[in-house]
Amino acid sequence: MNTERTEQQKKVVTRFAPSPTGFLHSGTYRTAVFSYLFAKKHGGEFILRIEDTDKERSKKEYEENIIDCLSWLNMSYDKFYRQSENAPRHKEILEKLISDGKAYISKEEAKDGSGVIKEIVRFKNPNRIVSFVDAIRGEIKIDTTDLGDFVIAKNLNEPLFHLAVVVDDADEGVTHIIRGDDHISNTPRHILLYEALDFNVPTYAHLPLVLSEDRTKLSKRKGAQAVTYYRDQGYLPGAILNFITMIGFNDGTEKEIFTLDELIQVFDLEKVQKGGAVFNPVKLDWLNKEHIKLLSDVDFKNHVLSYMSDELKNIAGFEKRIDAILPTIKERIVKFGDIRDMETAGELQYFFMDPSYEPALLLCAEKQRKGKESMTVKDLAPIYEKLKEIISGITEFTPESAKAFIWPYAEEQGRGIVLWALRTALSGKERSPDPFTLVSIFGKEETIRRLDIALQKLNEINP
Ligand code: GLU
Repeated sequence: MNTERTEQQKKVVTRFAPSPTGFLHSGTYRTAVFSYLFAKKHGGEFILRIEDTDKERSKKEYEENIIDCLSWLNMSYDKFYRQSENAPRHKEILEKLISDGKAYISKEEAKDGSGVIKEIVRFKNPNRIVSFVDAIRGEIKIDTTDLGDFVIAKNLNEPLFHLAVVVDDADEGVTHIIRGDDHISNTPRHILLYEALDFNVPTYAHLPLVLSEDRTKLSKRKGAQAVTYYRDQGYLPGAILNFITMIGFNDGTEKEIFTLDELIQVFDLEKVQKGGAVFNPVKLDWLNKEHIKLLSDVDFKNHVLSYMSDELKNIAGFEKRIDAILPTIKERIVKFGDIRDMETAGELQYFFMDPSYEPALLLCAEKQRKGKESMTVKDLAPIYEKLKEIISGITEFTPESAKAFIWPYAEEQGRGIVLWALRTALSGKERSPDPFTLVSIFGKEETIRRLDIALQKLNEINP
């Protein structure tokens, strides 16, 4: 029996306790991520507690946003609480503190100048030095004398943050409070309350603030968007988790790409840096690309499909060619939302249907002929004929093999002209993946067919 209780006492319990007063950005979510990783690392429990006691500023939409983001990040919580639902207990504790002589009701004039007298509850500060060992910063000592008899409730039914947070953490059995270092100055008040209530003081770990790259406070303009923004842009949750963890944390090795399970393995509060946590959006893009590479082929394809419009997916030739263009897409995107942009820019349609372009586009090869006379239909037609001949001889349709066949002719005739002619005929675009890749995707028959269409279009122009 005794051993069982000791085991239970040892169980790590952490919590993420956001106030639903705005969309949380990645800086704030780091608190959630670290609390989650620490609990999972120690086989413990992770709690989500919505601190909604500020009725005016708390909004349902923000609470939903917090829940959606945690679920998208695959950080499941073992228990869920809403601080407002613990109101009877807050009142009971306030009454107990008052009857024990540790707090008192103070009649004070409201600060709004209305002259109204309010009955607020103040904690009787024992005025002493509070010292605690922060799991990240080491020993911290603060003299609480300056705090005076601080306010813990607006009245018996409206507790303030200091009281509610202590009562809830104690009731929910929280053993480790991992939160932003903007709360360091609150911690001595909380410890005094724990002691007054004879509750076990938890371990604190205060995370250094995340800064933007110029070392100023993180803001929306400076990189930190709401987590939902990254979700909607098509970043992978695994990449966001990896990225957020690596802000001010290092496992002591050179490794930078971690899955969630690996993060749980390597995470430890001692490895969290004491300062200088910087949010680097370029690093996030890099990590996202790396996480895209970790997806299985099937997962990758499903992600790609979910970012394409039905209009695109309903093109008759879609099924036939989608698999062939997946590697090119993988190479070109940083996040899946890029696929939407490619489609809007008309950079995907031509893979599945004949490109539509003005015949004059083909002649623009003149631009590539530095200092020479303009390209004419007469110049170009033989180039297309020759390209058809070369393509007919290709045996293996990979970008490398296509290049090996076409390159010598391109060198001889002028790379700019030949590659332009090939690219525009295949894509109808001035810019596209390299023409050898296009040839490998379309294969012999389709490439030749598109070259024939280009020849026909050339004939529409008066030579
Ligand atoms: N609700 C507080 C906040 O959003 C956090 C409280 C805590 O972590 O102790 O800042």
